[in-house]
Amino acid sequence: MRYSKYFIPTLKEAPSDAEIISHKLMLRAGLIRKLSSGIYTYLPVGLKVIRKVENIIREEMDRAGAIELLMPGVQPAEIWQESGRWEHYGKELLRFKDRNGRDFCLGPTHEEVITDLVKKEIRSYRQMPVNFYQIQTKFRDEIRPRFGIMRCREFIMKDAYSFDVDEKGAERSYEIMYDTYCNIFKRCGLKFRAVEADTGSIGGTFSHEFMVLADTGEDQIVNCTACPYAANIEKAEVVDHYESEAHSQRLLPYEEVHTPDVKSVDEVSEFLNITSKELVKTLIIKTDGDVVAALIRGDHELNPIKLKNLLGAQELELADPLLVEEITHAPMGFAGPVGLNIKIIADNAIKGMKNFVTGANKKDTHLKNVNLDRDFKVDTFADIRIITPEDRCPKCGGELHFGRGIEVGHIFKLGTKYSEAMGALFLDRDGKEKPIVMGCYGIGVGRTVAAAIEQNHDKDGIIFPIPIAPFEVIVVPVQMHESRVSEVAERIYKEMKDSGIDVLIDDRDLRGGVKFKDADLLGIPLRVTVGKRGLEEDMVEIKLRKDKEPFSVPLSNVSSVIKEKIEELYGKAK
Ligand code: ATP
Ligand code: MG
Repeated sequence: MRYSKYFIPTLKEAPSDAEIISHKLMLRAGLIRKLSSGIYTYLPVGLKVIRKVENIIREEMDRAGAIELLMPGVQPAEIWQESGRWEHYGKELLRFKDRNGRDFCLGPTHEEVITDLVKKEIRSYRQMPVNFYQIQTKFRDEIRPRFGIMRCREFIMKDAYSFDVDEKGAERSYEIMYDTYCNIFKRCGLKFRAVEADTGSIGGTFSHEFMVLADTGEDQIVNCTACPYAANIEKAEVVDHYESEAHSQRLLPYEEVHTPDVKSVDEVSEFLNITSKELVKTLIIKTDGDVVAALIRGDHELNPIKLKNLLGAQELELADPLLVEEITHAPMGFAGPVGLNIKIIADNAIKGMKNFVTGANKKDTHLKNVNLDRDFKVDTFADIRIITPEDRCPKCGGELHFGRGIEVGHIFKLGTKYSEAMGALFLDRDGKEKPIVMGCYGIGVGRTVAAAIEQNHDKDGIIFPIPIAPFEVIVVPVQMHESRVSEVAERIYKEMKDSGIDVLIDDRDLRGGVKFKDADLLGIPLRVTVGKRGLEEDMVEIKLRKDKEPFSVPLSNVSSVIKEKIEELYGKAK
């Protein structure tokens, strides 16, 4: 490719609404442009990178025996009504009517479409296992689109759906996808970790998210330093060991204390000169038309996903001040479990507490020396909090490490949720009709590119891992009008092209410095610089984007050195 004939609109500065580095660099390097909130055009270089990721995905999915098809982006309401998600999906589902007044939506995912297809086409156990995949554009009306194509509204996803005759088969399909995803992200040259993810009401450990490790990631993840356990913080189980000293404490009589305008955990503990560990927060929570209280130790945080799963709830939110007042007869900030007439769910950590402080359900008042059973009853004890660095690995008791990641892929064992709701049944070997057991598997293609940049950049621009770089090599003639310079550069360019290397020649009539800046910004892994001075000694310079310094190579060796370096870079990505 020739730079002068291509379209790479680089920018000196990123627009001010770009918050994170990958977003800034994708705009500056001319990979994407925004059309509307969360809706982007992939410019030629951006598309080239997207296609490289897609090709890796396609190769690995094919290798795993999955079969490619392509489903429509526009989906009729009927199938969503069948699955029950027309009501539950919420506002991320963009709905509209056609000219005949029929309801449609833009597909945010394709469980309904594929289940509808399979229900009509697959009748016998002989037709399974089968796994269908597509690489297709999704639309989700995200509440807060941000970070460019990392979290946008229209995006490209690879989604796959497996169909098996029984649980065991579905587990096998899941394992195959797990391994396939590992291969895909390895081949993309990314540092990633597969973590256990929330499975909602289905439960079990059959969901993993693939996280690209990056400090700017939206997701928090934990991993054990002693065993392979790793989980999204949303999911990470907490095993509570009750503090033994609490057991020997005597129960003291409880008393009211006047705490004028003292509401938050920090304020209360400071006012009463206690640590936040001696305090119990009472959170009033609205869930599916019901109200419950959740008790959490002062220094801990509620994990709303755990509570939601425990209750089997669709919706969960903190009660507003009005509702809090109605339930507790006190303004927000003074809720407590004593005398409270709603269901009380307490985090396990509270089991080990004695003589603690709670709100008094009375304005400007707290209670001291509150005790379980004596003063109030808990309906359910459960693990409903977010894991902390003080906690240990739930599997082996080892020390935990906390980090951040960007979710680029998600695999999920669905079971028979959709096949039962939509009637996707098959005739088994024993002649009985049974629901098909499903799994679903997604990769955000655009997000993978953004995450790769988030993980691989420096102050000058992107440092693409070679397997997903827009070009493997850029040839930069420094003085274009020197005929020998441009002759040699053209010759090197042609040779590389002929040997199948993905190469760009910067044939623009610009100063070398400008070209170097653009090459760095674009993140092309290898640069060959052809300059007048070097040529006097029949030498050219090669520079790896990730290295600081270039090195000189005799003209006669350029091809072989470049090939060697390319291989080295690909080797690293394997
Ligand atoms: P998130 O929690 O980030 O919203 P999700 O759990 O909704 O993700 P899935 O439904 O599992 O995502 O979709 C599969 C993959 O699609 C995700 O792992 C992610 O890579 C990608 N993806 C999801 N939402 C977006 C989005 N708004 N923009 C870009 N990619 C997305
Ligand atoms: Mg989402």
